[in-house]
Amino acid sequence: KAKANGRNGYFIYESTLEKLYKDKLTLKLDIERALESEEFVLHYQPQIDIKDGRIVGVETLIRWQHKKRGLIFPNDFIPLAEETGLISQIGEWVIKNACLQLKKWRDINIPIMKVSVNLSAHQFLKNDLAQIVEGVLAETGLAPVHLELEITESMTMEVNYAIKTIKELSDLGVKISIDDFGTGYSSLNYLKKFEIDYLKIDKSFVNDIETDKSDANMIHTIILMAQNLGLEVVAEGVENREQLKFLGNHGCDFVQGYYFSKPLTAEEFESEFYNLQKDFIEKVE
Ligand code: C2E
Ligand code: MG
Ligand code: MG
Ligand code: MG
Repeated sequence: KAKANGRNGYFIYESTLEKLYKDKLTLKLDIERALESEEFVLHYQPQIDIKDGRIVGVETLIRWQHKKRGLIFPNDFIPLAEETGLISQIGEWVIKNACLQLKKWRDINIPIMKVSVNLSAHQFLKNDLAQIVEGVLAETGLAPVHLELEITESMTMEVNYAIKTIKELSDLGVKISIDDFGTGYSSLNYLKKFEIDYLKIDKSFVNDIETDKSDANMIHTIILMAQNLGLEVVAEGVENREQLKFLGNHGCDFVQGYYFSKPLTAEEFESEFYNLQKDFIEKVE
């Protein structure tokens, strides 16, 4: 099962990456080396308020700039990192560096309200998550309201554990969103018991808005349901004006996608911020 995941001219095949590491120990050592030699980098994708085009936040997306193998995308190494157990270390590194980055941007008056970080299942299921997050916030000096954590529906299968963990995080003051919403198991009954703030509509629904009536209906239904639950809705994978218009007309709150910007390095985001902001305001008009 070789899944192509090529972007920017790089082609990594899941099975190839797996084969490259003859055993888990080799992979583990390589990840440890990568953490030390700072081969992991964070890219940031702007999140936009659909009403006025304002950049409200950024989503943090990790990449592995491997010395020998080139750029590796998260879908190709996060699952392997989960198997080695090193995902906790990577995950903590991501939260810490994302918080430091937003703190830095806010300190130089770049007006962004939040940074969101994807959690892995392993991180969410370890019961020291809230302490770790609390520690990182204290260490970096970022106020909790500026951090958002993204979990997926499948991580909430253990409902009572999820209710408790989400509450612990929410009590710290951080925001919680359910990522890739609509693709996984989900019980409306439990959804209202989770202290969450946002639903992120999966990009597969957004992709076919114009051609697939059932995807359009699904989006409409998710937004109505979110409104009933008092949650805000983020749509991911917005690639064109038609999709943006549909989402706007149906009450979606925030958008993210290539139509606005691909994920950028910290340097690109910082130097381009005011140009991007100007461009986005025009795009939502
Ligand atoms: P996700 O959190 O659902 O992130 C959205 C993915 O869609 C990202 O892929 C992003 O680059 C891509 N994307 C953004 N806009 C568009 C668009 O308009 N069209 C299309 N086709 N794609 C778009 P990426 O960066 O390769 O990340 C893939 C997944 O890897 C993420 O999905 C997330 O689940 C995971 N991931 C990324 N960073 C981290 C991390 O730091 N920790 C963990 N545990 N997982 C991460
Ligand atoms: Mg995400
Ligand atoms: Mg997603
Ligand atoms: Mg995803």
